[in-house]
Amino acid sequence: MNSAAPRAVIFDLDGTLAESRLDFDAIRTEIGLAPGLPILEQLADAGPAERARAEVIMRRHERKAIADATLTDGCADLLGHLAARKIPIGILTRNIREVVETFARTFAFRFAAIYTREDGPHKPAPDGVLALCAQLSARPQETLTVGDYKFDVEAGRRAGCRTVLLRAEPLTAAEHAEWGSPDLVVSSLRELLPLFR
Ligand SMILES: [Mg+2]
Repeated sequence: MNSAAPRAVIFDLDGTLAESRLDFDAIRTEIGLAPGLPILEQLADAGPAERARAEVIMRRHERKAIADATLTDGCADLLGHLAARKIPIGILTRNIREVVETFARTFAFRFAAIYTREDGPHKPAPDGVLALCAQLSARPQETLTVGDYKFDVEAGRRAGCRTVLLRAEPLTAAEHAEWGSPDLVVSSLRELLPLFR
């Protein structure tokens, strides 16, 4: 990985900064979607009424999950470290703005820019990464994206950023491409501290 310190960082929310128990299986069941497949993709062709009904269900689960959320290991240390170094942070999530704002308020974090599914094409599309880079005044190649799912890696990679996958188990060689070929895999956000010395 390029050894220059990133000038901006774009984080996913759920599973990356927030230890939130979003039960996607329960959401799928309640909406009436097929098991195992991503929710927003399944709703892509839904009509306005079906989409509105699904949004009500998703938002109820999302609000509940963030109300009960804690911080992932190393989150407070890393975000404090970035704030001290004046490295701006963006949030890119398939969740909603209200939930990001609740999280920021609860844990007294300050995010310079936020992009949610309400703002345009969602991950794995690169649109949100590019929009956030512009708002953070950093070029994609100077920006690090951090997330816990393959869509996070794919979005960052397609935008031209360096990508970090947060995951408890290391990727096997067979999984590496499937998970978007991240530049770095870490099991705790704490492992990113040395990048910003
Ligand atoms: Mg996530």
